[in-house]
Amino acid sequence: MHELSIVMSIIDIARDEAKKANVLKFSEIELEIGMLSGIEMNAFDFAWNEAVKLTILDSAVRVVSRPVGKAVCLECDANFDMLTLYDQCPVCQSPFTDIKQGKELRVKSLTTV
Ligand SMILES: [Zn+2]
Repeated sequence: MHELSIVMSIIDIARDEAKKANVLKFSEIELEIGMLSGIEMNAFDFAWNEAVKLTILDSAVRVVSRPVGKAVCLECDANFDMLTLYDQCPVCQSPFTDIKQGKELRVKSLTTV
């Protein structure tokens, strides 16, 4: 499962950060998961609940922001919101677009008490 490997790498990041900061637990983790990142949130939640047990994140509150997809058409320069990676330009129907936002997948912050 794709989501599980993502959760595992987030735990790795948190572990590295904990070592650097010399802390044992994080109380909050802030994630940015773009609407176009291809992550299925139900699968992500399920993987999260299983994987963080007994890790430094097991009691961390998870705050997730989900930037919407934004793109610029490469044919007519129109700016538009994208709901899926395959959306066409609403002005000229071109499938060629430059995605500016929405594919994010990152740890924004880790907080310790
Ligand atoms: Zn266009």
